[in-house]
Amino acid sequence: MSKILLVEDDQEVGESITTWLENESYTVEMTSSGSDASQLLENFWFDLIILDWGLPDLSGYEVLQKFRERGGNTPVIFITARADMDSKTAGLDCGADDYLPKPFSPRELLARVRAILRRPGPRTSVKELSLANLRLHPDTGRIFIDDMEVRLSGKEFAVLSYLLQHQNQACSPRTLLKEVWESETEVTEDSVRKLVSRLRQRLSACRCQVNIKTEAGHGYTLEPEIDC
Ligand code: CA
Repeated sequence: MSKILLVEDDQEVGESITTWLENESYTVEMTSSGSDASQLLENFWFDLIILDWGLPDLSGYEVLQKFRERGGNTPVIFITARADMDSKTAGLDCGADDYLPKPFSPRELLARVRAILRRPGPRTSVKELSLANLRLHPDTGRIFIDDMEVRLSGKEFAVLSYLLQHQNQACSPRTLLKEVWESETEVTEDSVRKLVSRLRQRLSACRCQVNIKTEAGHGYTLEPEIDC
């Protein structure tokens, strides 16, 4: 089962989160100090880090920055009382994978934990997914078309990666919504369609020889372009 490092200095909050996670059979290691967290991260492997921003010694932000600078790629969910856009952007820019303002419900946190642990990432052994001239590296988040590196948004990457991993089946907007967005309730199937259409344009602008085909009533499949 997945091992989670929880860094939270509010004892009561920390204990509740630990109970929620343990009830779902996750193994939890909890600490209330930033420097302690850094030490643990240097010496032990975790599948996910849940990190409070405001800590008595190092801030969660500093812990994450140092960890990423050392090359640590374990996914991180920031939990914090700061819900303003600047803090959110700073958290995500310094390498957090998700950001959850306090207070939050156990359901919401657990949904995000599941979503992140399901993502293709360093925990999987898949080093490269490829089709025609497209190559995608789930562990580093990099995409190449021929030998040119292409930048996609986080969600575009996640959708493309999902489609590449499920090449033999049609993936409906509903499936993508469930698998890629999961806990983001404001997103609709229509937003998924719009994102796929944007992704299609991006790929075609980069001369990608993979088409995202729509099968009416079923969903999307990837199809290599055939030269004629
Ligand atoms: Ca705190």
